[in-house]
Amino acid sequence: MNSILSDRIINMEESATLAMAKKARELKSQGVDIISLSLGEPDFKTPKHIQEAAKDAIDEGKYFSYPPVAGYQDLREAIAKKLREENEIAEAKAENIVVSTGAKHSIANVFMCMVNEGDEVVIFSPYWVSYAEIIKLAGGVPVLIEGTLENNFKATAAQLEAAITPKTKAVIYSSPCNPTGSVFSKEELEAIAEVVKKHENIMVIADEIYEKINFAGRNYSIGSFPGMFDRTITVNGFSKGYAMTGWRVGYICAPVWMAKSVEKIQGQFTSGGTGIAQRAALAGISGDQTPTTEMANAYLRRRGLVLDLLRDIPGIKTHVPEGAFYFFPDVTAFFGKSAKGHDVKDADDLCLYLLAEAHVSLVTGTAFGAPNCIRLSYAASDAELVDALGRMKKALGELA
Ligand code: PMP
Ligand code: GLU
Repeated sequence: MNSILSDRIINMEESATLAMAKKARELKSQGVDIISLSLGEPDFKTPKHIQEAAKDAIDEGKYFSYPPVAGYQDLREAIAKKLREENEIAEAKAENIVVSTGAKHSIANVFMCMVNEGDEVVIFSPYWVSYAEIIKLAGGVPVLIEGTLENNFKATAAQLEAAITPKTKAVIYSSPCNPTGSVFSKEELEAIAEVVKKHENIMVIADEIYEKINFAGRNYSIGSFPGMFDRTITVNGFSKGYAMTGWRVGYICAPVWMAKSVEKIQGQFTSGGTGIAQRAALAGISGDQTPTTEMANAYLRRRGLVLDLLRDIPGIKTHVPEGAFYFFPDVTAFFGKSAKGHDVKDADDLCLYLLAEAHVSLVTGTAFGAPNCIRLSYAASDAELVDALGRMKKALGELA
């Protein structure tokens, strides 16, 4: 039946993060004692007041019908207010906001609205798995500019400048970054903004979904810089900061012409996001922020814990991530080694070896454009982290 499937889907890679999570779940269900550090998902429960808001919304009985395609007006207003006050995006108004079924959906909408066949999108690499596949699905060509371990995995404005061609439509990055945890400083973002402003037909897509998990101080939004509002699509969502991955609420803030286009495509593909989830999101954004701060503090503490444990494993080379909840160590020291019938040629093999022998699931850096690295999510309990890192140390020590 392969003749029925489109080239579009045949040529698409499966999401490596979700694939690894699926594999870990399957092994767990067979009784294997797997510690899953593969999926980028808070291990905390959605804060109580958000859960209560969803229950109230059900009891009120008002949110069971199709919501407006771009999201409920009060939620869009609350998001715009947050962006003005917290992110200093002074121009943000409800008309600039479109709420979608997760930030992944927001990003897909944006690329579908922007990319023609052969258009190029520059991606700061290492990058989140789904960017490149969504760009390709839209007919575009991902162009990677690469940061290295030595510069905290941050590609520079000069690299961006050099990558721009007449076909470039946009540039995308996440900061704090998935998978590296790196955070762009104000100066680095200003330099990126200067390059973008030199090229009038290029937009920036700023994925700020990890903004609440930022140990480097405050988060800077490129859309707040002079002259950048009309050149920026800010992407954000509730999955990480409010531990709401399964509720599926994300949003963009964009110039009205782009917001209208995203609304149009969403109107044909999915309609407005789930009503009850939007009521919960409203409680998240406008309610008590203490749980969000507490979760961020817990991630900071765990970062310290994992850093010490990683530094204790011979061969692992890591930088100190400034945000998100990932480590992205270089593991080239293990390439070319073997143990227990496993030949470790690359990071993919190393992840499979660690899954099979240490029962720890991680994600290969290949999926993020960095084949020398692996990604470890430390959104897990202290006990699991200590256990997992102990198992990894033992299994890595057996490679010879
Ligand atoms: N951007 C980045 C950088 C991510 O890590 C994720 C994964 N949660 C998303 C976007 C999508 O988030 P969601 O669809 O859960 O809102
Ligand atoms: N964004 C998370 C991750 O990178 C969740 C999985 C996904 O949506 O890809 O692991």
